Amino acid sequence: MTEPVLVIASRNRHKVEEIKAILADLPVVIKGVGEIADLPEVVEDGRTFKANAVKKALYTAKALNLTAIGDDSGLVVDCLNGEPGVNSARYAGIPSNDQRNNDKLLYKLRDVPWEKRDAHFECVIALAEPNGDVETCTGICSGKIGYRPQGTNGFGYDPLFVVPEYNQTFAELDPEVKNQISHRAKALAELRKILIEKFCR
Ligand code: IMP
Repeated sequence: MTEPVLVIASRNRHKVEEIKAILADLPVVIKGVGEIADLPEVVEDGRTFKANAVKKALYTAKALNLTAIGDDSGLVVDCLNGEPGVNSARYAGIPSNDQRNNDKLLYKLRDVPWEKRDAHFECVIALAEPNGDVETCTGICSGKIGYRPQGTNGFGYDPLFVVPEYNQTFAELDPEVKNQISHRAKALAELRKILIEKFCR
């Protein structure tokens, strides 16, 4: 029997790799959208992570006639009223640039003491079918924004995001550890339950 195909509606290589690694044991063939077709980028103009995740997943599922997952995620910093939020990828402008985003965040927090540097990553994953059915899963990982970049693993704001339980940034942690505790890992743990119901029974 051929395994069902699940398309990840993202061109972010790091995200696609993380999702593939976390769901590797499921009897599903997981592919990034770029491995299947040259679809135009979906404009992320939603005001919430959920709206953007649903938009990406539905568009891809309908365009390819395959089950698709859309992930929208970002960093929410308490003392900045939730910035960068849904604008995490484009915080310092377009084209998105991790280094410039991190520099901007550090600059905005330059006078903020440690006890006020609370933040969390949020990830919403939408699972969509070509017929328009959608389910969503949310994961949150809490931490603090460090004073300078530390570590070389991961992507995005990883070098600035300190996980208090480990006293290390996401970029210092072993990727396997990040993949157990991250916002994306938590949302994917929920998604896993839905996928098992859908494909493994
Ligand atoms: P998206 O592709 O619109 O979901 O962009 C999410 C953006 O949020 C990324 O470009 C990163 O800047 C940031 N982000 C999301 N998840 C992570 C993570 O696990 N580590 C570091 N940055 C992240």
